[in-house]
Order: sequence, then structure tokens, then C-alpha cells
Amino acid sequence: MGLKLFNTLTRSVQAFEPLDAAGKRVGMYSCGPTVYDFAHIGNWRTFVFADLVRRYLEFKGYAVHHVTNITDVDDKIINRVRELGIGLREFTGPFERAYFDDLKELGCRPPNDTPRATEHIPQIIDLIAKLLERGIAYQAPDGSVYFSIEKYRAAGCQYGQLVKLNFEEMRVGERVASDEYAKESLADFALWKARVPEDGAVFWPSPWGEGRPGWHIECSAMSMELLGPSFDLHLGGEDLMFPHHEDEIAQSEGAGLQTCGHRFVKHWLHGAHLLVEGKKMSKRLGNFFTLRDLLGRGFTGREIRFLLLTAHYRETFNFTLKGVQDARTALQRIDECLNKLREVAAGAKADPDPRLVEQFTAALDEDLNIAGAWGVIFEWVRETNRALAENGVSPAAAAAALAAWDRLDTVLGIGVTAEVEVPAEITALLEARQAARKAKDFKRSDAIRDELKAQGWVIEDTPKGARVKKA
Ligand code: AMP
Ligand code: ZN
Repeated sequence: MGLKLFNTLTRSVQAFEPLDAAGKRVGMYSCGPTVYDFAHIGNWRTFVFADLVRRYLEFKGYAVHHVTNITDVDDKIINRVRELGIGLREFTGPFERAYFDDLKELGCRPPNDTPRATEHIPQIIDLIAKLLERGIAYQAPDGSVYFSIEKYRAAGCQYGQLVKLNFEEMRVGERVASDEYAKESLADFALWKARVPEDGAVFWPSPWGEGRPGWHIECSAMSMELLGPSFDLHLGGEDLMFPHHEDEIAQSEGAGLQTCGHRFVKHWLHGAHLLVEGKKMSKRLGNFFTLRDLLGRGFTGREIRFLLLTAHYRETFNFTLKGVQDARTALQRIDECLNKLREVAAGAKADPDPRLVEQFTAALDEDLNIAGAWGVIFEWVRETNRALAENGVSPAAAAAALAAWDRLDTVLGIGVTAEVEVPAEITALLEARQAARKAKDFKRSDAIRDELKAQGWVIEDTPKGARVKKA
């Protein structure tokens, strides 16, 4: 069965067919972080969603080229650099590193390319030059270069492919200099912003004088540089539909680099926003979480990843602290089931149980119905626990179930297949406790048990002897 995805371009669920004639290679671009602060948990919902898409395509056998940009120059960054009086890279570097650390913490596969905007100024300039050459861009009196919506439309192109726009309100030649604006302020947007004193040292030379790129052109230039003028998938949060993605289409298709009959991007995917405790996230309301905030409260990246992956990507998702607690409980249920299966399998190997893999695939093929996929998994956990309780699972069946789980986890990325690694010093403590018990030194054995507990490990006495597990 084939994968179907909702395409914002056609506003319908469509069969996913890669542009590659061999049906193998897939080019995918997901808009990455603007490194002016730590990414918040809402940003992470979108980045984890991109990781899910990429992992599921790989699960289906596609060879995915995943590009995520690093926006390391834009209006917001320049404002902060000016306020702090430090260099651009000095400012963005720590946030960029934090992004990569968090990416790892949340179990995301690193994108194949993570281009920085500041390292693609020549490609950005070339693209703007092409738009000027085609008469779709023009230089304003202050030296900035703008995209002309009127000229673009006059060339037979459609502005407003992802969102419906009201051109009646638009006044020809009116310009918007800021990167972010509402649909109501529809106007020509900046491609190259002429240097102003407030930019400080953040500027580059160009054929139109010193200045810096607008945010939208950065993504057009970097995506086409790495994936070609036409590629399969472009992702981002729903707030990026307008103006960011609409402008990306206009710039990329306006430059006319695509071969006849091909679009800049075939499938546009947008993830719905994350709310916090039922409200829009905001610093003012104090309901603004970064991943670090949550790790500081004792949650793990794995628990947060699981939670971010519970809802369908097109549904608004309400993040609550209780939700992360529930995620912990749900993961424990999975872990316990897998651990019991491991005991029964006792190292036996088998091919994956096809039923579980098929049901999981059937759910995700339907526009990544992850809630359905979790339904399949928890039903399987229930059934498996029942069978285990009745001693009705053979080592071969347990091995087949574990192999099926391994397949699923290549998509889920919650990494519960391996037993938690027990550090050597903890094993040594456990052995010392066993020795104390043998010597009937119960005072010492209790003290060691307390010490293990203080370090976050509990002792479990099993028929095969004592072992430790994470508290
Ligand atoms: P930014 O760093 O602001 O450019 O945003 C990075 C990504 O996070 C973009 O794809 C945004 O659409 C997405 N994003 C921003 N806020 C939220 C939110 N509350 N929920 C989900 N995604 C978001
Ligand atoms: Zn972008």
C-alpha cells in the first residue's frame, strides 16, 4: 500500500509519488531554526514531525535527502546582535549548538545537510540577479531589492498558491520591508535589504550595494542549491504558509529554473501548532517551555519525543506537564512488555512478526496517522501481556515480536529495544549487596540498596537472581 499525504498546495490527501523516475530518491526540505534563542517546545513539535516524515519515508525504502536550514541572519537576529553589541557568529553559535544538542536529545536523525544562510550569500545573490533579469524584481530608491507581485502575476504566475489572497486590497508598488507580515498587508517583499546603520557589522557586498538578504530568499536559494530547482517535499509549521512559503514559491518559480511542467515543490506539508496548557505559548503567560526547561524538571528527551509524536500532525496539540507524566507511564508499559519478551526470547532471533508491521504501516500510510499507529501498538502490548501472563508465548514468537518492534522503532525513534545500560559502578554495588546478603550482613545490604536508590536504581529480585532497573 502506498503512502498518502495531505498537500497544502491542493488542499487534499494525495498519493505520494517522488519526482525520481526510479521512485527511489526523495528530496525533502524542512525550515529550520532561527538561531536567536533556544528553540521552544512548539518549534520542536515541528522539527520532530519533520523527523517522523523522514524516518517513515526511509522505513518505506526511499533514499531521503533531508535538508534543514539554519537561519543565522534575519531581522530578529540583527536586533539582538545590536542590543548585545557582539559579533553575529558569537551570538548565533551557542543557539545553533543548542539546536543540535536538542535534536540529539529528542532522538531526531540529523538532517543530511544543515546549510547556514550566511554561507550561501553568493547563491542568494545569483537568485536575486535572476529575478531582476526577468523583470520580476526591482531596486527601490534606498538600494534594497524587492519582489514585484504585479510583475510576477503579469508573467502568468500565481501568487497565493498555499493561501487565498485578496488582491483588491493590494496597492501596486507598495512595499513591506519586514520579513514577517500578515496577509492583509500584502505587498512587494524585500529580497535584498540595503545596509542601514542599525545593521552594524552585519552586511555583505552585492551588485546592488552593501546589505543583507531577506529571510524568504534564503530558503529558496539553499533548498534549490542542495535539492535542485524541483524537489519532492517542503515542510514547516502552519505559521510559515504565509508569507514565508508563499514567497519561497514566488521567488523560486519566478526565477524560472524548473523544467517545463514541474513545480518548485511537489508536496507542501504543514504541521499544526502546539498550545501549552490550552493557551498559545507566550513568554508573558509564563507557559513558554524550552526542551532544557523540561529536562530540568526531570523529564527525558525520549518522554518528550513520545508526547510530541502522539497527535496527528495536522491537529493542534495541547502540551501539558500531566501529558509528559502520562507519556512516562505509557513508555513504561511498552518497556516492561519488551523486557518480558526479551526474557522469553532469551537471545533467540526471528523475522519480524508481519501482522504488527502491516497494521502499523496501514495506519501511517494514511497521511501519517500516528494516533492510529499508537492504537495498534498499545493493543499489541495488551495482547502480548495477556499471552505472557498465560505463558502462551514461545521463544520464537517473542523473538518475532521483538524484531517487529525493532522495525517500528526505526520510525518512532524512542529507542527502547536495548536494555538500559547499567554503569559498571552500579553493577559493582549490586554485587557488593549480594555478597553482604550472602554473609548475612543485612545492615550493609540495606545501606547499599539505599545508595543504589539515591543514584536512581532499584533492585528487583527475580527467579534468575537480583538485577537493577531505573527507578
Ligand atoms: P522559527 O525558529 O521561528 O523560524 O521556527 C521554526 C519552526 O517552528 C517553524 O517551522 C515554525 O513554523 C515552527 N513553530 C513555531 N511556533 C510553533 C508552535 N507553537 N507549534 C509548532 N510549531 C511552531
Ligand atoms: Zn524556510
